[in-house]
Formats: sequence, C-alpha cells, structure tokens
Amino acid sequence: MIDNRSFYNEILTEHNMHPDFKYDLENADLILDGINPSCGDEITLKLKVEDDVIVDGAFVGDGCAISQASADIMLGMIIGKTREEALHLADIFIRMIKGNATEEEIDELEEAGALRDISHMPSRVKCAVLGWHTLEEIFKNRSSNNT
Ligand code: ZN
Repeated sequence: MIDNRSFYNEILTEHNMHPDFKYDLENADLILDGINPSCGDEITLKLKVEDDVIVDGAFVGDGCAISQASADIMLGMIIGKTREEALHLADIFIRMIKGNATEEEIDELEEAGALRDISHMPSRVKCAVLGWHTLEEIFKNRSSNNT
C-alpha cells in the first residue's frame, strides 16, 4: 500500500464522474431500493440473473460520493459472477469496512480494497456498505422457487 490515500480519492472521483454502471437497466429480474437515512443516500439496484449468474446489472441513485462510488465498483465486480460468488465478495467487503477482514480477503476485492480506510471513519460505514447490503437483501428477498 504505497499511497492508499490518493488512490482512494482517485477511485472515488473517477467512479462519481464516470460511473460505468449508473443507468436505468431495462428488463431487470431483481430490483431493490437501498437507503441510508443517516446520510441521505439512496440507490435502486437492478440485476439480470440467468441460471444463478449475474449477467448484467446497474443502479440509479443519489447520495454522497462514497455511496455512489461503492455501488459502481461493486457492479463492476459482480457482473459475470454467480450469486454465491457475489455474496462471498459482499461478505468480505462488509467485514473489511467493519475492520474484520484479513489481508488475503481484502486482496480478493481488488479495486474495492481501496475503500478499506473507511473502517476508520465510522460515520461513513453505512455509505460504503449500502450497495453491498442491498445486494445481500436482493438475493435474500428472492423467492426460492427457482424454476
Ligand atoms: Zn453517504
């Protein structure tokens, strides 16, 4: 970790100015709103899922730089992954933000690992995990009749 602070700022800026996945995805299979009232962050997560693989995804929303960048980074990581793989990454990310992930686990998060220092900013924790929490809920809420 040579210069994590400027890397962190760069990633937040880049994903806010040029988000890759912030648009209204049509024909989504799963749609869920996530809100973080303590900061006023809102996102609507939309996913297309085929045979338990996330084949496409996007979000719309409004809120602070951390919440929006974190959701954008998340989508870049989970598209093409299975539900199980995506939930595994969510578990690591949420534990990292709470300061409970190992270095090996944080390596798995690649770019999202740049947000690790948020574990030292308690007021921003809910902003950082908003997208990932919404991802967990979207699969939890899904009915279990996988036809
Ligand atoms: Zn926020």
